[in-house]
Amino acid sequence: MSGGQDSTTCLYWALDRFGHDRVSAITFDYGQRHRIELTCAEKIAADANVPWVCLPIDTFAALGGNALTDADIVVASEVDDESGLPNTFVPGRNLIFLTLAAAWAWPRNIGNIVTGVAQTDYSGYPDCREETIASLERTLALGMERDVQMHAPLMHLSKKETVELAQSLGALESMRLTHSCYNGKRPPCGKCAACKLRARGFSGAGIEDPLLAAP
Ligand SMILES: [Zn+2]
Repeated sequence: MSGGQDSTTCLYWALDRFGHDRVSAITFDYGQRHRIELTCAEKIAADANVPWVCLPIDTFAALGGNALTDADIVVASEVDDESGLPNTFVPGRNLIFLTLAAAWAWPRNIGNIVTGVAQTDYSGYPDCREETIASLERTLALGMERDVQMHAPLMHLSKKETVELAQSLGALESMRLTHSCYNGKRPPCGKCAACKLRARGFSGAGIEDPLLAAP
């Protein structure tokens, strides 16, 4: 759980599907420059009354080369011409997250992992593709000798549909606690790609973003 809109929607999706006593939220502290994400994630989990665990991974920051973990790189609003990816792409990030989530789940006999990745509207991140997730699910099941089911309920939803899903799951109220802005601003900057995408989703659904309505 990143503390953003998508993972929060997924948290409520999991609560709806598996029940309150059977859901835990995992957040990774990977050296993200916006530490506010961690605070948001913790608050959202507390608000939903589910256990929250934050696992440290300091390797991504050491790898460098992307705007999310390297304070010297400015978040670009356009994709990089050469790689075709935004400079907020952290190579391998979701693969590592999901692998560690599966490793955390293993001794706890948890066989279902829910992730907020989506290939619709996604910012060109190849680790958000359905094919990537399906392949990783298979790899984890082989590598851990246990069925691991990956759930990506937002995979084929547009941002508008994700907002509508959040509403139907009763997750809208908790959106006031979420954080999406790539510039780490609170209230959100309204200008970065993440803010614009979020705004399009809410306006498309005809719903006011509780984050913007918050005092
Ligand atoms: Zn922003």
